[in-house]
Amino acid sequence: MKVSLQNVTKKFPSRNKKQPEDVVAVNDFTFEIPDGVLLGLLGPSGCGKSTTLNLLSGLQMPTSGRIFFGDDDVTNLPAENRGVGLVFQNYALYPHLTVKQNITFPLENRKGKDKLTKQQMADMALEAAKLVQIENLMDRKPKELSGGQQQRVAIARALVKMPRILLLDEPLSNLDARLRLQTREEIRRIQRKTGITTVFVTHDQEEAMSISDLIVVMKDGVIQQTGKPQDVYDSPENLFVAKFLGTPPINVFDGEVKGETLYIGSEAVLPVPGVADQAVTAAVRPEGFVLSETGALGCDLSRVEVMGRDISVVSTHPNSRNVTIRAIISAENAVPPEAKTVRFDLKPGKVFLFDRQTEERIAFG
Ligand code: ADP
Ligand code: MG
Repeated sequence: MKVSLQNVTKKFPSRNKKQPEDVVAVNDFTFEIPDGVLLGLLGPSGCGKSTTLNLLSGLQMPTSGRIFFGDDDVTNLPAENRGVGLVFQNYALYPHLTVKQNITFPLENRKGKDKLTKQQMADMALEAAKLVQIENLMDRKPKELSGGQQQRVAIARALVKMPRILLLDEPLSNLDARLRLQTREEIRRIQRKTGITTVFVTHDQEEAMSISDLIVVMKDGVIQQTGKPQDVYDSPENLFVAKFLGTPPINVFDGEVKGETLYIGSEAVLPVPGVADQAVTAAVRPEGFVLSETGALGCDLSRVEVMGRDISVVSTHPNSRNVTIRAIISAENAVPPEAKTVRFDLKPGKVFLFDRQTEERIAFG
């Protein structure tokens, strides 16, 4: 099911007398989620992710704008009639019900021609349970399950109605690191298998990048960029997006363009054809540094961290806005242990220029 948002805005009344303006949680959202896609909605805490999800689910109504599922305008449709499955961070299972009863719960109150027999409900519950591989836990109570198992029950409950849309709000946040990895792969597998259009909300860029077909990066209720994870990483439209994606984070410098050349401090570090003379913000991905004795950019070496396949060269530079610069270099490249400085050449495709004031990307080359 394709999902479209058209100029969707959600305002909340301010409860702060000193700042009486409304809180604009979602500001003029327009985007389309193609059928069968897993969309990652990504941004820092408070940027409006949950509000967007609540608008899609019908738990909240937009202040203005329209929402479509396929060709149906669902803007004013109550949540129970939208055919959405919802999963939250805190599982929200009924503690006094068994796993099976929790999963069948959304099927219980169907009326008239939609009413299901006990057997039909049991069959549907089993099918959903099999999808998330908890069919052998059906008679347990939630407190007899691990966090990961509880979250699977919550996912099975969301899937049992075969929803048109599956909405997941930070579903992995309560799980430990290993389970988080495992469960996110599980979600990806289930989503592929069912083909249900899915919106996955997270503040964790790595999580969003790893499982999404498409990501939407948000900040302060405003969409910053939409695209395939790799495309957004390779071509961020502004400094916020460049900084938000990638671990270790991108390295940001105060730079200056003179004569189509990027200077960091007094050193000419990269040709930037077509860019007018100006002060810029230059950002370099950690994998964009090439160790070289004759390299264009000299930095003060702090330490070298060995990480198996790669090494991380940690250094400083007066024009760096990050406290330390992190360069990821393949382990064949040795740094002499007594070295006080390192020199790097920069890979052009891994360097981005941004306007100092607007922080919008300046293309070059
Ligand atoms: P996220 O899920 O990205 O952390 P939210 O969507 O929960 O962000 O919140 C976005 C903004 O809207 C925040 O500033 C939050 O304080 C505000 N907000 C959310 N829900 C309400 C509400 N019911 N009343 C007032 N403000 C709200
Ligand atoms: Mg939230």
